[in-house]
Amino acid sequence: MSKISFYQFLSQFPKADLHYHLLGGVRLETMLAFAKKYDYPLSELEAKSYYRAYKAETGSTKGGIAALTFLYELMQEAEDYERVLLEVAEDAHACGVRYIETFWNPSDTHLSYDDVNQALVRGIEKSLLQFNITIRLIPSINREKSPELAVEMVEMMLQHPHPYVLGIGIDYKEHNASVELFWQAYRLAQDNGYKLTAHCSEFGLHWRNVVAGIELVEVDRIDHGYSIIDNPKLTAQYAEQGIPFTVVPSNTYFLSQWPEHAEWQVKHPIRAMAKAGLNIIPCTDDWHMHATDSTNCYRVMVEDFGFDIESLKHFMLNSLGASWLPKKLKKQLVSQWTTEFDLLRAQIDQEPEIAPQHLIEYRRHPVSKHKIYVNKA
Ligand SMILES: [Zn+2]
Repeated sequence: MSKISFYQFLSQFPKADLHYHLLGGVRLETMLAFAKKYDYPLSELEAKSYYRAYKAETGSTKGGIAALTFLYELMQEAEDYERVLLEVAEDAHACGVRYIETFWNPSDTHLSYDDVNQALVRGIEKSLLQFNITIRLIPSINREKSPELAVEMVEMMLQHPHPYVLGIGIDYKEHNASVELFWQAYRLAQDNGYKLTAHCSEFGLHWRNVVAGIELVEVDRIDHGYSIIDNPKLTAQYAEQGIPFTVVPSNTYFLSQWPEHAEWQVKHPIRAMAKAGLNIIPCTDDWHMHATDSTNCYRVMVEDFGFDIESLKHFMLNSLGASWLPKKLKKQLVSQWTTEFDLLRAQIDQEPEIAPQHLIEYRRHPVSKHKIYVNKA
């Protein structure tokens, strides 16, 4: 049996990414190409200032939200969205990603919902043929805009239904816009069979935002949700219920909280969430903007946060369980992906060593919601 490195293993085992902002996956050269196409004055250095990878060169990064806002202005034709989606699929394929549920914000584009949706659907069909990757769509509310606009977004979805559109989300700056303000849009979506997710308690905001998402809005999963660990009773309850939390190792807020690597490694809430037995799914958020990818995302889980390799299998299975794929297909993929994971793992030439005091063995039963067993190392 031929051997592979640990990094080859990380980039090859099958993955699902459930928290992926489509325009966070725009490559630098693509942003520059769009600027050229529309005669928009954008120097290479200005473009780089949206990308964390060039922080040392540009002196700052504007962050994911600024990048998304800029790109929605810049991309003026539906075919631009098709291009981005195909490139996202190509990049994800290189990291072993087989399935993505991706957010985009209909209220931020000047194009019609239907035009963009159709372009994305064309991209999805090509992605499956070219890269064997399945992508599904989550129109997402820009919470910096009004709750009424959010209702309009759902109404547009109802006027132009498509089987690739699975649910709705909410993102952008949460400080003055907790999810319950948008209850009408969520209720309308839920009543019409859409799944629900929401960015809650990002940026260190209070755990009550997670509670509002789960108890009032009745979301099917939470994006981020880190502050829930400040409430041990609720954390235990949500762990028992198996409520999925998509978590992002490259989250900007926590990088700025603890710029010292060693402190960040220990204090990041992902470790505490795992130890509490929550159903967590590592995701990438803003792929190119945050200088990450799915391989790196899982690498961080091992090398920085101390999870053993068996934990990665449980995260992989959590991602399938929390996805909005049809039940029958999920069951089939659980079996296929487990086999692939185990075969690849057996080929690793040398597994990384994790210091015992830092090690976490995350063992969450992937099928039953109520069988959770975690070694609280
Ligand atoms: Zn996000």
